[in-house]
Formats: sequence, C-alpha cells, structure tokens
Amino acid sequence: MSVVPSSSPVDPIDALLSAHGLRRTGAARRVLGWLLAHPDTSYTHAQLQSSLQSDSTQDGQGAGAATLDRVTLYRLIDRLTQVGLLLCRVDVHRVRRYQAMPASVHALPHFECQSCHRDQPLQGALQGNAQDLEVAAQNALQTLKALGYQGLSLDLAVRGVCADCATAATASTNRHEAT
Ligand SMILES: [Zn+2]
Repeated sequence: MSVVPSSSPVDPIDALLSAHGLRRTGAARRVLGWLLAHPDTSYTHAQLQSSLQSDSTQDGQGAGAATLDRVTLYRLIDRLTQVGLLLCRVDVHRVRRYQAMPASVHALPHFECQSCHRDQPLQGALQGNAQDLEVAAQNALQTLKALGYQGLSLDLAVRGVCADCATAATASTNRHEAT
C-alpha cells in the first residue's frame, strides 16, 4: 500500500469515489477514469475489459494492470451503477451496456446508435420538436410527483442506427456488390 502525501492535489476520480462511499482502488480508478474519458460511448462488460487491457498495454506502465479479472470488473461496475456514477442500459440484443452517467440524462431526448454505440443529444436534429418532447416529459413528471411518486427520473432515448453508420453500411454493401 502506498501512502499518498497529504499535499498532493485531490484527483477528481478519487474525489468522486470518496463522495459516493467507494474505495479508491486502482481498479475503480481505472474503470471510472476510462468511462469518464469516453462519456459518449456505452460499453458491455467484455468491451470494457478489453479496452482497459489494451489501454494498460499501450501506456507501458501497466505492470499488473492487466490483472483486472472479470469478477472484480463485474462487481465494480455493479457498485458504480448502484451509486449512480454509471448509467446502465439494455441494448436491442438484451446486453447490458454501461457509460458514465451523463449530466443531461434527465429528459433530454438522445439517440443511441446500436452500431457504433455513440450517444448523441437530439436537440439539433429535432430542432423545435425536441422542446415539445422535453415539455411533455416535464409535464409527465410533474403529474406523477403530484400523485405522490418519488425519486423520478426519465430517459428519452431513441434507438437505431445513426446516419454515419447507415452510410458506412450502404457504402460497404455497394463495394461488395461491385466486386
Ligand atoms: Zn453509429
């Protein structure tokens, strides 16, 4: 165990872990750090594990870092999700995907691409209609609150394949047909 000198500035990831009552282990730092560094992408357990492993091989300082085993990772992800640091969604294949909890997760309509797994806000694409959706969502929450429901949150997600992925898929199909 290394002793952190008290003069060192508090790492934001350590601060988050402490604030949520979690132990500041190396594994917790790595998992949360990775997801915070890629806030727009959701990962399955397997994807997260392989990303973390290739990350630790690349930076060269990962002696022992690659030993983050599956069970540890699963438990860690569960804990991080329980305390609200991660958002868990189930994709069309009923696989759980995790990402850093977006600040805008409330009622902002967003789009989850089932191909590249990027998560994009939809305000731009929907223009004025996005506001209508948000107003409708807020009204629904207000109504439920008035009826005594508590701890409400709402997630407006549209799922599908984004324009970039759709274009790429069409292009590759055309290439196949040409050869
Ligand atoms: Zn996509």
